[in-house]
Amino acid sequence: MTIRNQISGQFSIIVASILTVFSLVIYGLSANYRQEEFYERLKKQARTTVRLLIDVQEVDSTLLKIIDRNSESALIDEQVMVFDKNNQLIYSNIDDKALAYQREWLDQVRTEKDLETHDGDNELIGLLFESTNGQVVALASAYDQFGRSKLRNLALTLGWGWLAGIGLTVVLGFFFAGRSLQPIASINQQIQRITANDLRQRLDEGNRQDEIDQLAINFNQVLSRLALAFEQQRSFVAHASHELRTPLATMKSDVQLALRRPLSEDQLRAVLQTMLPDIDRLSGLTNSLLLMARTLDNIDQMAFGPLRLDEIVFAAQEELQMAKPAYRVDIRYDQFPDSEADTQLHGNENLLQQVVFNLLDNACKYSANHWAEVLLSYDSTGCQLAVRDVGVGISAEDQAHIFEPFYRAQRTLGYEGFGIGLSICHRIITLHQGQLTLKSQLGEGSTFTVWLPRRP
Ligand code: ADP
Repeated sequence: MTIRNQISGQFSIIVASILTVFSLVIYGLSANYRQEEFYERLKKQARTTVRLLIDVQEVDSTLLKIIDRNSESALIDEQVMVFDKNNQLIYSNIDDKALAYQREWLDQVRTEKDLETHDGDNELIGLLFESTNGQVVALASAYDQFGRSKLRNLALTLGWGWLAGIGLTVVLGFFFAGRSLQPIASINQQIQRITANDLRQRLDEGNRQDEIDQLAINFNQVLSRLALAFEQQRSFVAHASHELRTPLATMKSDVQLALRRPLSEDQLRAVLQTMLPDIDRLSGLTNSLLLMARTLDNIDQMAFGPLRLDEIVFAAQEELQMAKPAYRVDIRYDQFPDSEADTQLHGNENLLQQVVFNLLDNACKYSANHWAEVLLSYDSTGCQLAVRDVGVGISAEDQAHIFEPFYRAQRTLGYEGFGIGLSICHRIITLHQGQLTLKSQLGEGSTFTVWLPRRP
């Protein structure tokens, strides 16, 4: 079922329910009012009859019957009966018909002084009067033709009104639901035109006010991120193949040269010697790529838990000093933590240690004195570590690309490396909802700062 049908259907059901309740209440109130009004008329009739019969000496039963029959206010099928204190009928306005009344009506009137009930389709009332000859009971009944026909008309009007109301609601509901969903249909059409090969297309964001515009804005943002991810992937593959191709091409030409003529053992050894750096480079590169693939592949499933940033820094320092004893790292607290909780964070220990290791390794590698300093600080929102070196520094132009995979600053091409570490660090810190920033001056050194929130 389409949303359009669902909306118009639900809308119609709601309006139908309201109309039904409304019609039933109106009909019920009118029916009640008609009945009350008719009882009142019957009571008036009974009072007049009793007054004329008992109080006015000049009027006897015969005269009263004549008056009753000729009265303009006589009702359809009207019967008025008066009974004395012994329940003997002393007056009836009709004498040709068999008088049907129930004894309990009389008893009820004598005990409750008042009776309002039905006799078939007729309304019937009973009243008690005091007279000099004891208590007199009057019963009056009639058929309310006028009132009932008015009620039938009302029912008919309400019924037709109900049907017309529902019909109108279904048509208007369908129309307005279609109109409200039109922007979604248009967005749907626009989305169908967007393909993976052309992520530059964007949805129309209208006047950026309503919910549909917001949907288009969010969708466009997703498209931008996708386009960026696709672009990064393309450039990554291009860079990776370039990095792999260069040493492979050198090795191939070395082998081709060697195969052209017979070589002595010493010459062969020399050829293999020239190939060794390229093999080392290839092996280093594949190791880095493997590390990157492993880290980025599982990055979203890595377990997060409580950890202390200072402990991670000490562990990374130890790991670096074991791997490269010539490097020196000093660790300082900006202010000494009051309690363990001050340096406590929530994250993945292995990933964060990898980040700190990488930053320390870079700082020492790109500094002539192979020295780096770590400054730890914290506040109520999170913890910060700054890795400072007094090395070669990074130009403003290089800083703009430094976190891209395979990007290496021109001045550092002589150093060993592939330009992958910082892009992994950036990804890991973003995953922890932290920030990795850089301040650097060419020739003076660099400071990489990691800020991590207490609870990502
Ligand atoms: P790698 O160090 O293996 O080349 P990284 O991704 O760790 O890869 O670093 C990318 C580039 O950023 C490096 O090649 C270097 O040009 C620059 N860089 C990183 N850290 C520093 C630093 N502390 N000082 C100067 N340049 C740096």
